[in-house]
Amino acid sequence: MPELPEVETIKNALEKAVGGACIQKTEIFCRRFRVPVPNDLAKRIDGARIVSFNRIAKYIIVRLDNSLSLIWHLGMSGRVKICDRRPNTPEKHDHIIFSTDKGCIIFNDARRFGLLTCCPTEELAQNPLLQKLGIDAMDKDFDGNYLYQKFHNKSTAVKMALLDQQIVCGIGNIYASEALFDARILPQRPATNLSKKECAQLAESVKAVLRKAIKAGGSTLKDYRRPDGSMGYFQNEHCVYNKTGQRCPNCVCDIKKTGGVQKTVLGGRSTFYCATLQK
Ligand SMILES: [Zn+2]
Repeated sequence: MPELPEVETIKNALEKAVGGACIQKTEIFCRRFRVPVPNDLAKRIDGARIVSFNRIAKYIIVRLDNSLSLIWHLGMSGRVKICDRRPNTPEKHDHIIFSTDKGCIIFNDARRFGLLTCCPTEELAQNPLLQKLGIDAMDKDFDGNYLYQKFHNKSTAVKMALLDQQIVCGIGNIYASEALFDARILPQRPATNLSKKECAQLAESVKAVLRKAIKAGGSTLKDYRRPDGSMGYFQNEHCVYNKTGQRCPNCVCDIKKTGGVQKTVLGGRSTFYCATLQK
């Protein structure tokens, strides 16, 4: 599933490729997504110019010059392809094709948990998809004090609290494990037990891990490809995610005795940690 760094990477790639472009023609081959594509979408956006691409959590917001914005989510398996011109034969699962004067954008989504809809730009903040989201993980106001307040009466495991999109949005399953490793905090600990200092470290670690991933161009898992079609390359740089039994970076433990990186399940999600370094 694309996580925040991947979505940020895709947003940046789109900005670079078709920022300022005029949408000439929108072709919609399938409307059945998590939220159905509005019937009149093409009519409302064809001819409009793209003003900007922004990211809110894992949503890409495409602001147009006709006071409408597109709200776009890639779901579990969504991919964005950027091509110079519209391919003669679309590939399987190419559900929406935008032709612009700067190139062609294709939304491909095998499992259709993604969505593409539009709303007046001035009503974005009240849109039901966006209004309940917590602070973005890369926001400057997301810091130790914020986490400490939010964790104050949370008895759930800190890993699960990090995945709670009403507390902070944009941290997915991979980066929750990675951030807790970076902060040297055990994922099972009740969120409420974290000290102010640990919350400050954790907020720092979340940002550091996400920043690193954005820089690396987004990580890759089996159903994610970078928009230009190439595979990402951050996967091997994960410290603990999917590294069961391996030694984590900087670890001092004897993995024959400790078993190396541990895997557990919290709230139904795989969680990885080092029992030696994380407290
Ligand atoms: Zn270790």
